[in-house]
Amino acid sequence: MDSLPEELVEGILGRLNEGQDKVAVALTCRRFLSAIHRKLPQATAICVQFSSSRGECGASVKTSRSSAFITVCQCAGHGCTQMLHCVLPLLSKEMASLSLEDELLGGERLSDGAAHALLDGCSDAPLSSLSFEHVDFTAVRPWTLALIASFDRLEEVHLLSCILPEGLLLRSLSASLSTLRVLSVTSSSLVSDKLCTALARAAPNLEEISVRGCRSVSAASLVPLLESAGRRRGQQLTLHAEETAFSCEHLARCMQSSLMPTGRHWAVTRMRMELGYAVPALLLTHPHGKAILVYD
Ligand SMILES: [Zn+2]
Repeated sequence: MDSLPEELVEGILGRLNEGQDKVAVALTCRRFLSAIHRKLPQATAICVQFSSSRGECGASVKTSRSSAFITVCQCAGHGCTQMLHCVLPLLSKEMASLSLEDELLGGERLSDGAAHALLDGCSDAPLSSLSFEHVDFTAVRPWTLALIASFDRLEEVHLLSCILPEGLLLRSLSASLSTLRVLSVTSSSLVSDKLCTALARAAPNLEEISVRGCRSVSAASLVPLLESAGRRRGQQLTLHAEETAFSCEHLARCMQSSLMPTGRHWAVTRMRMELGYAVPALLLTHPHGKAILVYD
């Protein structure tokens, strides 16, 4: 194979039909990657999973229709992070959705190098949805996280059971606040009422916020959302505040306080929503037609 001219290698590899096979060949060596890089399938959704370096590890890529599932380890021997850095820009030109799942075990955390390879590798993608699950960002440097701000048209962001300080989260989302429709930050002790204050000020397209399981979030989160309702484009905002410090008594005190001049205009109705089973909820309505539905 080494003695074959480039055009011939390109011709042979170009005859592969399956996107899956093209990606597998591209990951074999730099020569094959450069021969086939123009013919790699484009994924609109990419899911990256970091697996533990203990036991069997390495890299695998599976493609199905317009999705790619990439599993990599972080051990020095396999060089998976360099592979991510090479391959992601080639697969992600049409990528609208990126999700990252952390399956690391035994105290192993996402490394700064791996996070950089992932975020930098996708920096030119037209991303509208970003999702992280069980990711501990403690070892990732702030300037690496700042790469998230290069995505400036995110509409949906999900941080499920992640460890990421609130200030860094808000700085990372700053470029996308004007387009953001859905934000979930769940089971985080690092999130407070500051999150909703920042969102209320700068995110006019918000339709849904979930802070489920964030114990430091209270009814005070609702005050800036109620106060800024007139500036939001949509008629209704849904707030998931289950398993937080939210309480109706605290909300009532906030709404009667002089710090909330519009508090008395809102009507509060206790109700049950049918979501397959009855779920308690609080509906707040304003005479100008705006509403906020709170699951508490
Ligand atoms: Zn490995």
